[in-house]
Amino acid sequence: MARLPMSAPRDHFLDACFLGPYGENDTLLEKFLVEFLRDHVYWRRNFHPEDPPAISTAATHHPDYRAFEARTRRELHQLSAALKKSVPFHSPRYVGHMASDLLLPGLAAQMLALPYNPNNVCEEAAPVTVELELKVGLQLARMLGYPDDPGRPDCAFGHLTSGGTLANYQALRLALALKSFPVALRAARVPELDLPEDDWQAFNLPAQQVIALRERWQCWLDDQAPGIAEDWRLRVEAERVERRGLAAFFSAHGALRAPLVLAPITAHYSWSKGLKLLGLGRDQLRLLPVRGMRLDGDALHEVLARCAEQHRPVLMCVAVLGSTEYGTIDPVHEVVAARLQARTEGLDFSVHVDAAWGGYLAALFRNADGSLRTHSEIAAEFEHFPSPEVYAAFAALGETDSITVDPHKLGYLPYGIGAFVCRDHRAMPLLAEPADYVFDEQDAEGYMARYRDLGQFTPEGSKPGANAAAAYVAHRVLPLEHQHFGRLVSTTIHAAEAFRNAARRFAIDMEGLARVAVPFEPDSNLVGLALNPWGNTEVSQANWFVRALHDMQRCDLSRPLQTRDFFGSKTSLQPALLGAAETQRVLSSLGLCMASLGENAPADRLLILRHTLMNPYLLDSENDVSYIDRYFQFLKEQVLALRAKLPSVDAA
Ligand SMILES: *Cc1c(COP(=O)(O)O)cnc(C)c1O
Repeated sequence: MARLPMSAPRDHFLDACFLGPYGENDTLLEKFLVEFLRDHVYWRRNFHPEDPPAISTAATHHPDYRAFEARTRRELHQLSAALKKSVPFHSPRYVGHMASDLLLPGLAAQMLALPYNPNNVCEEAAPVTVELELKVGLQLARMLGYPDDPGRPDCAFGHLTSGGTLANYQALRLALALKSFPVALRAARVPELDLPEDDWQAFNLPAQQVIALRERWQCWLDDQAPGIAEDWRLRVEAERVERRGLAAFFSAHGALRAPLVLAPITAHYSWSKGLKLLGLGRDQLRLLPVRGMRLDGDALHEVLARCAEQHRPVLMCVAVLGSTEYGTIDPVHEVVAARLQARTEGLDFSVHVDAAWGGYLAALFRNADGSLRTHSEIAAEFEHFPSPEVYAAFAALGETDSITVDPHKLGYLPYGIGAFVCRDHRAMPLLAEPADYVFDEQDAEGYMARYRDLGQFTPEGSKPGANAAAAYVAHRVLPLEHQHFGRLVSTTIHAAEAFRNAARRFAIDMEGLARVAVPFEPDSNLVGLALNPWGNTEVSQANWFVRALHDMQRCDLSRPLQTRDFFGSKTSLQPALLGAAETQRVLSSLGLCMASLGENAPADRLLILRHTLMNPYLLDSENDVSYIDRYFQFLKEQVLALRAKLPSVDAA
């Protein structure tokens, strides 16, 4: 079993990062918890020590007190017992969904902050953690290649959300606000602003020009007498899409049809939700074809050319940085280039990167000073990563308009922490509620002051400041560059490369028993595995086989957790989305017949196993254990057992 890659020696730097698969760092976490719980209690006592304790020191002896304590303990015991059936995300035997152990600094910071219960809706309710949230936005901005100096007028801005879904929705809101604002200015007939000639041009003004226009509008207002300024402000407000609603806005501007949102077929279903929520409707989501599960740049060019020709507005093009099913990375650089091309034809749109999964991989690409590392510097640490396309995609992030990142995925932080980051914070006033937010300060202090009432800008209202504390502390302990956080995420790439190699060996090992293929070369740390019993040509039979394999590696409340050796996940390849050529390629690599793909379930798609390799202890060089090798050993046993049960395939 001693075939751990030499490129992945034990990194002791990571030893204190997590509670650990065995709870190895229990004393460390316990020390922090006790220390800071006591600290919190002292804080309470020191608020007004002259106030007598409201709960008497004898209260604990009262039967009611004891009964309450007993009831609480009983319920907690039951909860704790029930939770033992939870998914063991912490274990290197868990390679299923996008979850793993929690960073100890983040977990400790969140637990520390919880009893203070800050509400990041506004500074009044969270005098400390609102600022931490803004700083988290800047930490992420720096990792992603956006300007992160709040003293700069064009500094980026980021805030936390409940998850990637809401961050994607925020991107849609901001794109719509930016694109429709110049149309509203025209409709209100604001003089002297040098407005675009028609609605089409107004809707297709590049974001930087809209931001400049909004600032000119603000200056112009400031120059008017107060009463007149207020009249103009109200006139423009009355024309804005946020006020009129999509139906009235687009019918008043007949030349503008409802805009499209372009996204690859790999896009997460939160985009469908987002379009519905925005009221634009699912019909306006145009799914673009992919090659090897990466957005097809040529297809994008074609769609854009047609939109320009037909004057069909485009709100946004989404590039996925780490697709949910395959971890594949879209060519962000090609999307940015396609926009430059479209601009020459009068068509402009926002470029948003859905990096909910892959965003934190950007840490690998950054030096401590925020500069971009070279391709060869990064490539020297891995076998294949990053491909030139992947490198170009990460290098182009700074040229996009906004990005979604999920700290509760590859950021190893507790659930309920997503993030939205936009490249230039001066776009944000367009989202403010109420909309007449006026700030003149153009320095770092002004930046922080501007977002004091954070809830004015975010889709959510009340939200936990403890989340901001967790993310901030985790990013301080492990700064988001290659020598710190990068070392953590690099273990996931090493694991994926080891998994890819093991899959190759497994395919050879399985000859005569099952055909095994990795349908898409991984770009990052997710690897899919397709299997088909040797000799079978029917998709339905292959699906039966893969479903049975997956049944052995998923949660089953009726069986003790310990009877499960590994936890994986599955996904399906849909020919309708994948296209005939790609479907043919994958099916023939498995010896499956195209004709056996039915029109209807269960054979209308091909089931495959999916592995998220984010646990940092998958390759345990300390004990010379590779959970990846063990996984394939497990899979081999399952394949052998299943083959015996296969009714219609003769043993080869
Ligand atoms: C997970 C994911 C989302 C949604 O994020 P949630 O945090 O689950 O709301 C969006 N996009 C991608 C690419 C994702 O992987």
